[in-house]
Amino acid sequence: MKSDSDIWNYFLNLIQRCGKFSDCMHCGQCEERCPQKLPIRDHLDKVTEEVEKKFT
Ligand code: SF4
Repeated sequence: MKSDSDIWNYFLNLIQRCGKFSDCMHCGQCEERCPQKLPIRDHLDKVTEEVEKKFT
């Protein structure tokens, strides 16, 4: 099982490489191209909320 520190480091690394989840502008381009029709914007909003709750 991952520790909070491992998870935090994972997210920090991801943010440094790809930007913050909250940087999403909700343009929907990724959802138009997603072959699985995933609700990516909704997922990013949920991840942003969870990360902020957990680590701020
Ligand atoms: S909706 Fe998708 S493509 Fe548009 S900014 Fe957000 S993650 Fe990027």
